[in-house]
Amino acid sequence: MSNIKEENLLHCGYCGKVLTNKTEIEYSRWLCEFYCNPDCAMSRYFEYCESRPFEEEFYKDYSIKVLPDGRLYKE
Ligand SMILES: [Zn+2]
Repeated sequence: MSNIKEENLLHCGYCGKVLTNKTEIEYSRWLCEFYCNPDCAMSRYFEYCESRPFEEEFYKDYSIKVLPDGRLYKE
């Protein structure tokens, strides 16, 4: 094939790697993006949803109390 346009190649929506038919491709219908593996897809999804570990220091901001047995309670 000649006339291949570089800009028409498919790339991973997270790391930018060029995709091939040997790539373990993930596709997001929501974001309309391809990813070169489940890890890239997961990283992108976590980023998109602004996901982060929820530490004890955030409890106050979300009105969360800890019951004596450790269960979390939202006031
Ligand atoms: Zn990737």
